[in-house]
Amino acid sequence: MLTTPDFTEITPTADIKATRHGSRAKCLQRLVRLDLPVPLSVALPFDTVRSIAKGKLPNMQALMGVFGDGALVSVRSSSQAADWGGPGTVLNIGMNDAVAARLAETHGQDAADALYLSFIKAYAVDVLRLDEDIFDEPITPRLAKSYFEDETEEPFPQDPGVQLTEVLRSMARAWEGTTARLLRQAQGAPADAGLGLVVQQMALGIGQGISGSGVMQFVSAQTGKPQVTGRYLPQGQGRAALDEQNAQFVESDARGPALEDACPKPVAALREAGALIRTRLREELQIEFTLMNGELFILDAVRCPRSGQAEVAIAVALAEDGVISKSEAMLRIPPFTLNQLLHRQVNPKAPRDMLTRGIAAAPGAATGKIVFTSEAAQAAAAQGDACILVRRDTSPEDIRGMHAAQAILTERGGMTSHAAVIARGLGLPCVSGATRLQLNSRKKTLTVPGRKVFHEGDVITVDGSSGEVLAGTAEMIEPALGGAFATLMKWADEARDIGIRANADTREDAEAAQRFGVDGIGLCRTEHMFFDPIRLTVMREMIFAEEPGDRTAALDRLLPMQRKDFTELFKLMQGQPVCIRLFDPPLHEFLPTERDGIRAMAEAMDMSVSRVASRIESMQEFNPMLGMRGVRLGITVPEIYDMQARAIFEATIAASDGGAPVVPEIMIPLVSARREVELVKARVDAVAAAVRAETGVAFDYRLGVMVETPRAALRAGEIAESSAFLSFGTNDLTQMTYGLSRDDAGRFMSAYVHQGVFPEDPFQRLDTDGVGELLLLGAERGRAARPELVLSLCGEHGGHPDSIAFSRTAGFDYVSCSPFRVPVAKLAAAQLSVQDKELP
Ligand code: PEP
Ligand code: MG
Repeated sequence: MLTTPDFTEITPTADIKATRHGSRAKCLQRLVRLDLPVPLSVALPFDTVRSIAKGKLPNMQALMGVFGDGALVSVRSSSQAADWGGPGTVLNIGMNDAVAARLAETHGQDAADALYLSFIKAYAVDVLRLDEDIFDEPITPRLAKSYFEDETEEPFPQDPGVQLTEVLRSMARAWEGTTARLLRQAQGAPADAGLGLVVQQMALGIGQGISGSGVMQFVSAQTGKPQVTGRYLPQGQGRAALDEQNAQFVESDARGPALEDACPKPVAALREAGALIRTRLREELQIEFTLMNGELFILDAVRCPRSGQAEVAIAVALAEDGVISKSEAMLRIPPFTLNQLLHRQVNPKAPRDMLTRGIAAAPGAATGKIVFTSEAAQAAAAQGDACILVRRDTSPEDIRGMHAAQAILTERGGMTSHAAVIARGLGLPCVSGATRLQLNSRKKTLTVPGRKVFHEGDVITVDGSSGEVLAGTAEMIEPALGGAFATLMKWADEARDIGIRANADTREDAEAAQRFGVDGIGLCRTEHMFFDPIRLTVMREMIFAEEPGDRTAALDRLLPMQRKDFTELFKLMQGQPVCIRLFDPPLHEFLPTERDGIRAMAEAMDMSVSRVASRIESMQEFNPMLGMRGVRLGITVPEIYDMQARAIFEATIAASDGGAPVVPEIMIPLVSARREVELVKARVDAVAAAVRAETGVAFDYRLGVMVETPRAALRAGEIAESSAFLSFGTNDLTQMTYGLSRDDAGRFMSAYVHQGVFPEDPFQRLDTDGVGELLLLGAERGRAARPELVLSLCGEHGGHPDSIAFSRTAGFDYVSCSPFRVPVAKLAAAQLSVQDKELP
């Protein structure tokens, strides 16, 4: 074994580390330890490669000496994590006139010419970065060398030492290039990530007898289920078999010729190697191999490429077979991978014709005909047509259209705007804030600058996972629940130590939440229960009421509807906690904005159009999100909260009858002062007392506060005195901490992120520094005043692994997120507790 400070021969006992030599070098050592036929290989550590990039070479004579005179070698990159990339492999280094002549004698002239020619090209194009065109036409090695000389004014180097030096230099420098740096940083590599290199003796794959090269794996890249997949190219090198039309199968296959038909022994050896690798290296690897006159060599093995579905299936199967622990299986799966299993996705391998990009507001993808109104969406759905609802932004009026559509696309808005929140709740793909789009809802056109004008009925695809909008249809991959996914969720439930609830407003949401096995409902936004057209009309009557008596009449009609909603939710959740937020949004959000709607409303209310219009205008606010909403509405029009409290208590009694006793949680939104809580609490307590007296039935409930203004966080101590729980609404809290409109920030967010003002959109990823400080202050002050105070986070951030880590460290009891984010949240939570247990 040869070890110098500059390089180390890869032997079973050599000191090879992924953190110093890269993951490929480490993997090769593991293959060597398994006694697999790996050609002689040498690893150059990160430091050596850094020095090469700066112009200081290792001892080249010693390096060449490892392989002996006349040897051909390859050089492969070996970064610390495989997905950090690295320059491509260079094969056949050492080819020159003398070696070519010798090869011609042993392997025939054609084989020698093919090898020499391919090396000259690779050296010129990949190493010296010459133009590929100079080798366009069919040429011989002699001609190629003369073209090379024309271009470089130097003869093609014959000295293997010179060739290897140039290859090492070019690979070392490529790693330092801007593109390579950006690409790996996007994969999470640190700025100073190093590159290792592996120099390996060539096993040619070209020559006499059965010679060739291939690639083989033992699971399907799509499903992760056991399935041998492989390609073999007779007289081929490298991974060429994967691209060549005339490649063969590896195992015998009815679809065409296979290596196994001609030569079964190496295929049996490969199968054995695959099984050995799986159990001993504890991973499904893709093997690159070469046959030289029937003799098998294993040159390299990389982690099998895999879809999200395969990622889960492989990890779960390895754990079920006892190869890895359940904890390790959970840790191996990046939580967001699960999104690929929950929703339809555009096949990443399929071509995509991108029109524009917006905010990836709700994952999944759908294709459909463009519609511009909620009515058109419902009409399309009635005819069985898939449609995409395209709006400037959405409002409660659009809810039925959103239900009818396959996906939502909005010109405005961000991660927490109406469209995004509702789409995530419904499990619909959504791209919001696609600001380059020019929408003309009157002419019903959608213009994509530089592309065409789209009309109603034209087909587009919305990819809410990437934020892309595509022209026409796209090839899709179906969701994959059940099986390995269900097993993984069970393990996550056993491991996690923070509660995961769902934000659910409707029966459908609650059913989805139950399917994903939540610990309860953490946020029921009651205003979302009023989007049904019949209810909307009654709601509008209530809003429009000028006399208290008229308002009471409207509320009396809303009461049974709400009671029914809550009874249904409580029953569905079977005794699990359900946290109901009292009415939150500004009232005028429930009023029509367009002429048709105003006319319809005037008819329904028996009022003149102008009177309706002026009344609507009188309710408009300059800053509705900072205006008369949330608890402010509860204080100024207290009858609304009275009605909701009564509905909740009556539903509690109804749902507890014969079922698990229900203890409803009632949450007051947008609080900023202690007195607000005291006032609402006094009225809610009075309603509870009245319902108890009327029915003679006892019940409990818990009243809490939604902390979503900075003042509420700062004054959490005094607010907690009258609250059983505090739930941080980080959507509004982010909006108010930054002074940043959650509905308008999409317009400049990408510029802000691009210029590094914000590391990321704070509505997508919790700002743990600023907003986080308020959460910590609020939690600390609240718990100091009331140690048993239940704490949670229920903004859209709730499903993000970072926020879960933050909430867990801060000692919160649970997070609450859209139902379709629950699986990601569960896995992230499980990973955190497993990591804590394993690395105390
Ligand atoms: C919040 O503000 O974080 C929240 C959950 O409430 P909403 O999104 O309904 O304003
Ligand atoms: Mg809010």
